[in-house]
Amino acid sequence: MVDERAERIRKFIRPLRVEPGTTVTLPADFDPRYKAHILKKKDGVALLRTGIELLADYQRRLAAQDTYGVLVCLQALDAGGKDGIIRHVMSGVNPQGVQVNSFKVPSAEELDHDYLWRYACRLPARGNIGIFNRSHYEEVLVVRVHPENLDRQKLPPEAKRKGVWNRRYNEINEWERYLTDNGYRLVKLFLNISREEQRARFLKRIDVPERNWKFSAADVREREHWDEYQHAFSKMLSATSTRWAPWYVIPADRKWFARICAGAVLAHTLIDIDPRYPTVSAEERRALGAVARRLESEAPEGAPADPYAMSIASAEAGSGKPKKAQKSERAGKTENA
Ligand code: AMP
Ligand code: MG
Repeated sequence: MVDERAERIRKFIRPLRVEPGTTVTLPADFDPRYKAHILKKKDGVALLRTGIELLADYQRRLAAQDTYGVLVCLQALDAGGKDGIIRHVMSGVNPQGVQVNSFKVPSAEELDHDYLWRYACRLPARGNIGIFNRSHYEEVLVVRVHPENLDRQKLPPEAKRKGVWNRRYNEINEWERYLTDNGYRLVKLFLNISREEQRARFLKRIDVPERNWKFSAADVREREHWDEYQHAFSKMLSATSTRWAPWYVIPADRKWFARICAGAVLAHTLIDIDPRYPTVSAEERRALGAVARRLESEAPEGAPADPYAMSIASAEAGSGKPKKAQKSERAGKTENA
């Protein structure tokens, strides 16, 4: 059943995946309006809900296992929908297990370090899901489109000489390889919107008073560099989609579809990790049983020895069938009592 579900998700996200070693040319290679023929918005909303439940379950296990960490990198042009993805896709997960970091123009302190430093400082702990709202990929996107950013980075001249972008792609690939070897899984999502959809979203930010705060004249100026960004994204996708950390291009003109896709890629990663709750040894089980008996002996006059076990037993008696497997497994009660 899990395998079947995993296979379905894998098929669904395959057209979004940038196969390592292929050359991507935007906008020709990925359609921002693609929506996988099967889906209507109504079906999509139901699918997203199922996906969110699945993510919540897997996140609990990821945290309990405390071995793997997940890093979601979100990249998009302005108004691409990064905030909405974070809000919707992560709506079901325990906030304690998720950290969101947004990366802006680097601070003086950040510029005083190597370019990956500020991202390394904000990596999630094992068992957690970290979301980078913009990521280390800005170092080959905005920095490439506006090379004056590179000048601000206080680099020695040899670090800025010809070939800097290819060197950075390699360095990023190596860094991600290192993270993967250490138990991190990267989910790299590029939200691909069309120029026309961006225009419409900017106008909506002007038209709707509650959205005015999101409008920035700088974003509209940045739009003038559309083609340069498409070029930088194309180079980035071609050079940094690796076996260990592939890119997914999310069709982002329809927000509801983009959210399903993002949820599906994340779900696929978690299913692949397949985190498990830690199990206890027979000896630990016996020790738990001993503690349970001591706690039961402390029950005050008239109180059930074990309120939880009693509620399970009465639910079972009411429905005529066992409620949950965990009840009979109670430490030390069955085999060792
Ligand atoms: P926003 O996401 O709208 O809050 O904007 C953040 C701004 O920070 C964007 O304009 C990015 O291009 C910019 N930014 C993010 N990372 C870098 C970087 N490494 N160097 C220069 N600018 C950056
Ligand atoms: Mg902005």
